[in-house]
Amino acid sequence: MNPSILVRVGLVAVFVSVAGVAARAQGKAQTEMPQYAAAEAGWQWPANKNGITYIPVCWENPQGWATEEGWVKNKILSTWAAVANVNFYNWNTCTAGAKGIHILITDTRSNSQVGTRLDGRKNGMELNFTFKNFSPSCQAANKRESCIESIALHEFGHALGFVHEQNRADSTCKVEVGGGAGWLLTDYDPDSVMNYCNPRWNNDGRLSPKDVKGVQTLYGARTVTTQGRVLINDYLNRKAGQQWENIIVDFTNEKGQGSRQYFNVNENSASQGRVWNFYSTGKYCYQAWSYTMYTDHVERRGYGTGCFTLTNGSNYTFTINFKPPTWSNVDFNIALVSTPRSN
Ligand SMILES: [Zn+2]
Repeated sequence: MNPSILVRVGLVAVFVSVAGVAARAQGKAQTEMPQYAAAEAGWQWPANKNGITYIPVCWENPQGWATEEGWVKNKILSTWAAVANVNFYNWNTCTAGAKGIHILITDTRSNSQVGTRLDGRKNGMELNFTFKNFSPSCQAANKRESCIESIALHEFGHALGFVHEQNRADSTCKVEVGGGAGWLLTDYDPDSVMNYCNPRWNNDGRLSPKDVKGVQTLYGARTVTTQGRVLINDYLNRKAGQQWENIIVDFTNEKGQGSRQYFNVNENSASQGRVWNFYSTGKYCYQAWSYTMYTDHVERRGYGTGCFTLTNGSNYTFTINFKPPTWSNVDFNIALVSTPRSN
């Protein structure tokens, strides 16, 4: 009954490998206008004074897709945003005209406008989470997550300004070639996530070395190397009658150094995401406090704590569940479920 928080620890230096299951034909998963190679000069998002490019992201119709939205966000933050000085933030519900990338969840061929053409544009990016009409093999339980993540990786390549690698004049790929050459950032890259002729569909959801070089040319390399990060998404549980919730989460390392972040979800802002970056491996512990109100106007308080060890070369998924649900005004514990992923 109480909201759950999804925590994912992803090591920035290690990309999640996914099963190479999708057929080559599914590489036609994306079609966009315009079609130029490499990157479109002039459509690059501008950098802030501190050298970081901040790009807000929102969902036009987020309801019911919290898990899939988490997959997309985590994928983008652990790939493009991990290697370049680009911060994708917000990931909340769109309001008309809001700055940044507006994502529509729809069962179509996923697609995206390129670069700043997305800025504030309703349904500028479309992502498919169901695959009923397109790429139906992605419906399989063991493929869905990797399909959603690797397609998002490609579409966010467009969002950063990249267009299809096979369109280059020096391309050896003859699949869905269109348009002329843009700004060529690297040598031709058969391994690019933006190349339809890549024998590994969307390069198995990993950036190629030249993808990394390209995005770092446009936006600069990540100036601080994080060993890992924790993402927490908090959602208002409308179905359970939740009206608002405040959560405080602390992470501390063995030296007692840490940072605290706040969540505040309500009817006007039904979801929030927060990111913790960690610059060394080792043991971290968290504490979380929850204050929440349901339609019965009785405030409930929750408290929980747990630890995990951030190691190099592993990814973990944590789910913190506030349980058991309690209908009296008392503390309750958070159960931590840790699932090491064999990526
Ligand atoms: Zn595309």
